Amino acid sequence: MSLPLLKNYINGEWEQSGTTETGTVWNPATGEKLAQVPYSTASEVDRAVQAAREAFQEWRTVPPIKRARYMFALKEVFEENFEDISRTLVREMGKTLDESRGEVRRMIENVEHSTGVTSLAMGSTLEDIARGIDCSSERQPVGVFGCIPPFNFPAMVPWWFMPYALVTGNTFVLKPSEQVPMTQGLIFELMEEIDLPEGVVNMVNGSKEVVNAMLDHPDIQGISFVGSTPTARYIYKRCGETGKRVQSLGGAKNVITVMPDTNIDKAMPSIITSFFGCAGQRCLSGAVLAPVGDIADEFLEKFVEQARNLKVGDGLDSGTQMGPLVSAAHKERVLGYIEKGISEGAELVLDGRNPAVENPEGFYVGPTIFDNVSKDMTIAREEIFGPVVSVLRAGSLQETIDYANSTGLANAACIYTSSGGAAREFKYKVKPSMVGVNVGIAAPMSFFPFGGAGDSMFGTHKGQGQDVFQFFTDAKVVISRWF
Ligand code: NAD
Repeated sequence: MSLPLLKNYINGEWEQSGTTETGTVWNPATGEKLAQVPYSTASEVDRAVQAAREAFQEWRTVPPIKRARYMFALKEVFEENFEDISRTLVREMGKTLDESRGEVRRMIENVEHSTGVTSLAMGSTLEDIARGIDCSSERQPVGVFGCIPPFNFPAMVPWWFMPYALVTGNTFVLKPSEQVPMTQGLIFELMEEIDLPEGVVNMVNGSKEVVNAMLDHPDIQGISFVGSTPTARYIYKRCGETGKRVQSLGGAKNVITVMPDTNIDKAMPSIITSFFGCAGQRCLSGAVLAPVGDIADEFLEKFVEQARNLKVGDGLDSGTQMGPLVSAAHKERVLGYIEKGISEGAELVLDGRNPAVENPEGFYVGPTIFDNVSKDMTIAREEIFGPVVSVLRAGSLQETIDYANSTGLANAACIYTSSGGAAREFKYKVKPSMVGVNVGIAAPMSFFPFGGAGDSMFGTHKGQGQDVFQFFTDAKVVISRWF
């Protein structure tokens, strides 16, 4: 049976790409093919951008309160189709249904937050900056924006940006991750129910060629990117060369510090989720576990035991606690890191290379734990993005802070402790800019900015929060005098 070939959405129409190049969308839980995704061409990107450019002329004049009403309507559509979106997401990405529902909820919360545009995009005025002269600053839309998201949050990540771009009067071109394009395909179909004017939102499927065509297009004013650090750095640099606004979020190597005064039983569930939720494929996942001092042995004994008992399987099966990795290639990459850990002398105390699963054709790696990892080992320095824990036994709080500040990947860091003083010192000194205190996944909600520091983020405006209202608007300053 031939696979469906996914379509692009340009100027309010679904259309087949003219390309002959395609990729495959897989169900990572079963190893089955779900669809073909077109690797669209630069001319198709150009048509999407031209449609968005034309739509911008009218869309920017729609009063913000009316633009917000589209988002109120969209929220209702998303709520009605909540399960359908969540299940589509599981099928192509592999996370569990509960994790998927959590993601879709976060997506909807961004739609909700964007409806505050009438307050959140308000300007400011000051009379008499000189005698008889007044000054105002007004937030104006900028034009066409592009978005390039990663594979691990197919529903949510584009919505850290899209609703805010729209309510502030801009128009939008999205290139979904070619590994997981079906979720946004469904979301765009649902968006048709709210009757946005043609060309306000567009979707072009594809890979690097589409990205490069977006980066080079003179009529795209800004890019919101989320993905790995090498790509994020490339996007940032190229947007600089072509003079675009850019927010470019990269990879992570998050440390979870466990202080000697931690309440182990209370802390354990969220620490387990931090490392093994979404099979470790979250930019906020724990990657390095740093027990401080003499809590290490008792903590690790319980941690390894609980990790060993996690049920690995298809995210749609009830009872599954951890799903597969997104692709066969990513599984190979993660297995490569496990080999590297062994060859560099770390102690493999839980081996997830051959997990007991119902469907061995799926892309599974089970919970894996290395003890006695040292700071200079590859598995302590590079992002693995899988269910592989590197345990770095630390002698002091300062040692874990120094480690967190040494990898360059300053996305998130968490501390478990009963001491307010230790928690304060940790959050004060660590460079990563999403910090959890007795919280293992420090995920900012839609009304707070989302993004890291160092090599985990290039640019100044993060996703969500107030940052996006600034990213998607120009602060025009008007100085007036009347004779
Ligand atoms: P990726 O960098 O491989 O791909 C991201 C996007 O960039 C995709 O749409 C892809 O088509 C495009 N792309 C990839 N290589 C490219 C190239 N050479 N030239 C042009 N475009 C290219 O990332 P991924 O594997 O899809 O996602 C996982 C990564 O995303 C992890 O590193 C993870 O930490 C990161 N991530 C970060 C955050 C954050 O908030 N900082 C959130 C989610 C994921």
